[in-house]
Amino acid sequence: MCLASHADGPCILLMVTSEVSHFSMAAIELKNITKRFGDVIAVNDLNLEIHDREFLIFLGPSGCGKTTTLRLIAGLEHPETGDIIIDGIRTNHLSPADRDIAFVFQFYALYPHLTVFDNIAFPLKAAKLGQSEIRGRVQEVAHLLQIDALLKRRPAHLSGGEMQRVALGRAMVRRPIAFLMDEPMANLDAKLRVDMRSELKRLQYELGTTTVFVTHDQVEAMSMADRIVIMYAGTLQQIGSPHEVYNQPRNLFVAGFMGSPSMNLIRGTIRSEDSNIFMRLNHTDFSWVLSDEQAASLGNRPPDNELVFGIRPEHVVVTNEAVEGRIRANVHLVESLGSMNIIDIFLGEDPETANLITLRVRTHPGFQVEVGQPIWLDFDEEHVHFFNPITAQAIY
Ligand code: ATP
Repeated sequence: MCLASHADGPCILLMVTSEVSHFSMAAIELKNITKRFGDVIAVNDLNLEIHDREFLIFLGPSGCGKTTTLRLIAGLEHPETGDIIIDGIRTNHLSPADRDIAFVFQFYALYPHLTVFDNIAFPLKAAKLGQSEIRGRVQEVAHLLQIDALLKRRPAHLSGGEMQRVALGRAMVRRPIAFLMDEPMANLDAKLRVDMRSELKRLQYELGTTTVFVTHDQVEAMSMADRIVIMYAGTLQQIGSPHEVYNQPRNLFVAGFMGSPSMNLIRGTIRSEDSNIFMRLNHTDFSWVLSDEQAASLGNRPPDNELVFGIRPEHVVVTNEAVEGRIRANVHLVESLGSMNIIDIFLGEDPETANLITLRVRTHPGFQVEVGQPIWLDFDEEHVHFFNPITAQAIY
C-alpha cells in the first residue's frame, strides 16, 4: 500500500509490504540508470553498487537528481534504461510494496488521530500480524529510539525531533531490507539535527540495515556516511569515503562543493626555468615551485600550460611577520567565527574582468591580524591540488 506521494517536492509516503521480514540484508546495484522528465535528464547513466549494511549518502545541490535516484530504487519512478538489482534480483518490474524497502521523508506524515504506538504499529497491523507480536515489536523499536514514554501521545503533542523518531520507528518496525531516507532531518532545528545525526548513525550501525540517505548538507554527509555519492546535473561526480571526497576530489565540481569555506581555486600557468617547474598564479606575483612528484603528474597538461591550482583554506600557512621563502600579501577581510578566523588575502586583480584574486585562509582564533596589514603565506605541499581547466578533472 502506498499513501500519498507528490511528484515535485519531498513526497509523503508510507509503504507497507505484504510480508514483514526480519532484519535482513541487501546490496543494491544500479546499472546504467537513466531517467528523464521531458527534456530534463534527472539521472544520467548512473552506475553504483551500494554494499550490504552500508550507510550511503547522496549529496549534491538542488536538482542534481538525488531524490529521483531514491525514488527509482523504491520503484516510485521507472528508469528509461538500466537495471536496479536488489539482493541479486532485478527489480525493475517489482512494485514499491514488493521491494521491501522503507522510506523516511522530510515530512513525517504521521496520522494525527493515532497515538505514537498506533502510528508505529500501523504497517504491522496492515500486514495482519498478531497483537502480541505487534506489541513486542513496537516496544522494541520505541526502546531503541528512546521514545517509550511517548507511546500514548498523539503527534500534536510531540516536538519535531520526537515526530521524526516516530516516523523512523514506523519504518524500522517493519524490519525492511533497506532504508531510503530523503532529507529526514530537514525540518529539525540546528541543535536537534546534530543530536539526530549521531543517533541515526548509531542506530544504523546497530541495526546493520543498508541505508541510502539524501541530503544537500555536507556536514550531515561527512559525519554519517560510510561513503558519499556526489551528484551534479544528474551525473555521478565522485563516490568515496568522506575522507576521500574531501581530500582527493576527482574534479573541480567536487573540489569546490565540498568544504566550507570551499577550496581556493585559482588559475595558474606552468613554466619551466632551469631545471625547476614553476606554477605562477595568473595576475599575481605568486610562483610555486612544483615538487618532483607534482611535476611528474603534469604529463598530459593542457597545451597552453594553464591549469587550476587548488588549496583548502586550512592548508595555507600564514604568519604576520616576514619569513624567508614566503610570499607577502595584504589582508583584505577578517571574519572571526569564534572557533576559527577566516581571512581573505589579496593576491592580485584580473585586468580584463576586474575580478580580485583572493585566497581564503583558515587560522586558529588566536591569530591576530587587521585588514590592510601584510601577511606572509605558504602552502602545505602535501595538500596542493591541480586541475585541468578544460576537462575539469584532477591532475594531482
Ligand atoms: P532537491 O535537493 O531540490 O530535492 P534533487 O537533487 O533531489 O533536488 P530531483 O528532485 O531528483 O533533484 O530532480 C532532478 C531533476 O529532475 C530536477 O531538474 C527536477 O526539476 C526534475 N524533476 C524531478 N521530478 C520531476 C517530475 N516529476 N517532473 C518533471 N521534472 C522532475
